[in-house]
Amino acid sequence: MADRLFEAVQAALPRLALRQNEPLRSYTTLHIGGPARLLALPESAAELTELCELLRRLGEKPVLLGNGSNVLAPDAGIETPVIVTSHVTGTAVNGELMTAECGAGLTKLAAQAAEAGLGGLEFAYGIPGTLGGAVVMNAGAYGGEMKDCTVWTEALDENLQFCRYTGAEQDFSYRHSRFDGGAVVLRSCIRLHAGEREEIKARCRELLEKRRTSQPLEWPSAGSAFKRPKEGYAAAMIDAAGLKGYTVGGAQVSEKHAGFVINRGGATAEDMKRILADIRERVFRDTGITLEAEIRIL
Ligand SMILES: Cc1cc2nc3c(=O)[nH]c(=O)nc-3n(C[C@H](O)[C@H](O)[C@H](O)COP(=O)(O)OP(=O)(O)OC[C@H]3O[C@@H](n4cnc5c(N)ncnc54)[C@H](O)[C@@H]3O)c2cc1C
Repeated sequence: MADRLFEAVQAALPRLALRQNEPLRSYTTLHIGGPARLLALPESAAELTELCELLRRLGEKPVLLGNGSNVLAPDAGIETPVIVTSHVTGTAVNGELMTAECGAGLTKLAAQAAEAGLGGLEFAYGIPGTLGGAVVMNAGAYGGEMKDCTVWTEALDENLQFCRYTGAEQDFSYRHSRFDGGAVVLRSCIRLHAGEREEIKARCRELLEKRRTSQPLEWPSAGSAFKRPKEGYAAAMIDAAGLKGYTVGGAQVSEKHAGFVINRGGATAEDMKRILADIRERVFRDTGITLEAEIRIL
């Protein structure tokens, strides 16, 4: 059926890849989510900017998705236009600086850096997100985080003004940045450091192996379901509450890593919301600590 918004975007940007009623489960690592009324896949930061400006003129504020590895999309789908950045992947290396567009995959960037004998992104090898998602979330692992290496980020602010934020202006803190909640990250510059190529690659492989042995990578998930509370580790608290293997519909607390909630097959967003609520309640009852979800609920 013809959709006015779809037709208006298609007419204004005829070369843009556009989908109508596209299932979001195909764009999230949890494999959950109903249809997006309109889903766009721009191919460059310029096309992404043009699209945001057009949507604003049409009175729409889009939802941004990178690789969908930290989000839960609703079963009923969403009316709000969705922009998936995973085709906006330009990168350039200049000495020890790597500039990459928002949709570039973190693991690929770390591998590209390693191949060029540049270290600094090993921690990100194996995080299944895009650069944009990682900057927004200040993604981190194994002692490193985006905060440590992101020199500057270019973004559209809430008013779609183009800005470059350098160093502390990016306002990184644990799983948070200034881009969280309204901005559109276009590209970032990462500071790397020259090193021994084989050593950098070996460190990447070592960290990936750690992930493979400790995380349920064989099942769909969105990574750690909860942020680390200041009192300790969410996974340890969930484990201590006896919740490993706890199941609601198709959603289950991983037996391998209690911090992960996996989709055992056919999980719905409602199953996920209920299991997250149950975990919070049980941990609160046992410890008095309120866990905060790391997964973003769209
Ligand atoms: C198996 C597994 C392991 C994981 N391990 C880790 C880990 O070790 N450390 C860690 O920190 N995370 C981890 N994660 C979570 C996730 O991969 C990271 O948070 C990642 O950085 C999210 O990137 P993304 O592109 O998938 O973002 P998405 O999930 O698509 O989006 C995350 C948030 O960022 C916003 N967003 C995305 N792109 C943009 C943009 N260009 N501009 C503005 N907003 C944007 C979205 O609207 C959303 O609010 C893991 C996930 C999985 C499934």
